[in-house]
Amino acid sequence: MAHSLASTVQQLFPNLQLPVPRPESLPLEVRSPIDGSVLARLGQASAADVNLVAQKAEEAFLAWRRVPAPQRGNLVRVLGEKVRAQKSSLGQLISLEMGKILQEGLGEVQEVIDICEFAVGLSRQLYGLTIASERPDHKLLETWHPLGPVAIISAFNFPMAVWAWNAALALVCGNPVIWKPSEKTPLSALALHALLLEAAQEQGIAIGGLSAVVIGDKSAGESLVAHPAVRLVSATGSTGMGRKVGQTCAALFKRPLLELGGNNAAILTPSAELDLALRAITFSAVGTAGQRCTTLRRLFVHQSLYDTVIVRLKAIYESVPVGDPLEAGTLVGPLIDRQSYEGMHNTLDRARSLGAKVHFGERIALRGSDSFYVRPALVEMKTQAGPMLEETFAPILYLCPYDSFADAIAMNNAAKHGLSSSVFTGNIYEAEEFLSAAGSDCGIANVNIGTSGAEIGGAFGGEKETGGGRESGSDAWKNYMRRATNTINYGKTLPLAQGIRFEV
Ligand code: NAD
Repeated sequence: MAHSLASTVQQLFPNLQLPVPRPESLPLEVRSPIDGSVLARLGQASAADVNLVAQKAEEAFLAWRRVPAPQRGNLVRVLGEKVRAQKSSLGQLISLEMGKILQEGLGEVQEVIDICEFAVGLSRQLYGLTIASERPDHKLLETWHPLGPVAIISAFNFPMAVWAWNAALALVCGNPVIWKPSEKTPLSALALHALLLEAAQEQGIAIGGLSAVVIGDKSAGESLVAHPAVRLVSATGSTGMGRKVGQTCAALFKRPLLELGGNNAAILTPSAELDLALRAITFSAVGTAGQRCTTLRRLFVHQSLYDTVIVRLKAIYESVPVGDPLEAGTLVGPLIDRQSYEGMHNTLDRARSLGAKVHFGERIALRGSDSFYVRPALVEMKTQAGPMLEETFAPILYLCPYDSFADAIAMNNAAKHGLSSSVFTGNIYEAEEFLSAAGSDCGIANVNIGTSGAEIGGAFGGEKETGGGRESGSDAWKNYMRRATNTINYGKTLPLAQGIRFEV
């Protein structure tokens, strides 16, 4: 079996260039969560390697910022075309390396294609403003310029899309990019990045320092974040990681774009379409085996519905197909690794010790002792407390009854994170209240759909311990540019702003 998954990767990407391990440092062992087998052993970047890559990016910036933005967009257009042509192989690689089911792997690759298309359109916009000046014969403008090298640090659970959300925009905005992917999913990074190299070669663009991948663990990430050439650090991962990266950025006056953990909630009201709501809740709670930043982790159910909902959800959870993510019909693949399984196990024990009723959550022996398949867990809590207020990156859905809608909103907002939230209701007053200034305090607030599965067109990100960053659609591109305010005097006198008189 070990041989077969590694050889599947080779068959999918026969020409993939992998960094060769060096005698002086330990190789990075890449394992498949499907059966725990080794897929590859890779050489890791040293601090000196990171330094070199960052210096090259600084040099590349000087040329790339002068290339007209629509031409920069052309590189991203060709990248998108190549990704489309390879969608099936890339989707399979995500499943093999990260463990999400093939449908979700393909969906992630589609996100890469979608953001490339978005960025190509954007490359003909990048618009500024003309602002009315208070002075005669003056023009006041706001213009946008490339910022400088962008570091992209990505998490294991979206091994391709996170880079694309950032890189497609950063490149059209005129910035070189340096990618430090998760040490758990470097092959997905190398396979996707190879397509950018091909696209550049076909277009006669000397890639040089324009884009690079740095393979390694958090120490490679730390070297990159601290490098003076890097102007923006887009970091996706745990809140603990973001706290450290944010502090380094603050000390060095770099721009941070933090996309961190989530502890997302939904409110199920008496007027909800129950069938629709239960499908949405299940997809959000068990999809990607509970390993999405937007995974639904807390469900507040109106007390009049509570008994019905728990019976129906138990029936769904009992039969939801858990298994090999590449097999048709599987809806829940494995957890990423043993540490993740132990985290889930310990959290369920803590919930039990608080008096919670735990349904399911047991390990399922499927592909040997080095793979970790679990039946997603439902946890009935009387009140919101303990581990329910933390993010455990596994398929655990806590249920809590509520009485008044105001209480439900307060419970939604009581978490430290502020990423995604939903309300299921047919009541316009509740829907609008949830979306209002006094409603959900999250970056994403939905009505009658689940917490996960965002489209690329909107800005993505969350508040509080989710980090406050926004990436992907809307005006998130502004993160990757520096804003200049320009005042032009086309008159023959020098009137000062605010009517100040200063005659010399
Ligand atoms: P992680 O924090 O362990 O690692 C993420 C990345 O950060 C990895 O590449 C890692 O090597 C790097 N890293 C860790 N410490 C670092 C440091 N001090 N300096 C620089 N780089 C460092 O996260 P993970 O386990 O890969 O991913 C799961 C977490 O990511 C969850 O909390 C999830 O909610 C979050 N996540 C958030 C979003 C979002 O958009 N908000 C998206 C995906 C995942």
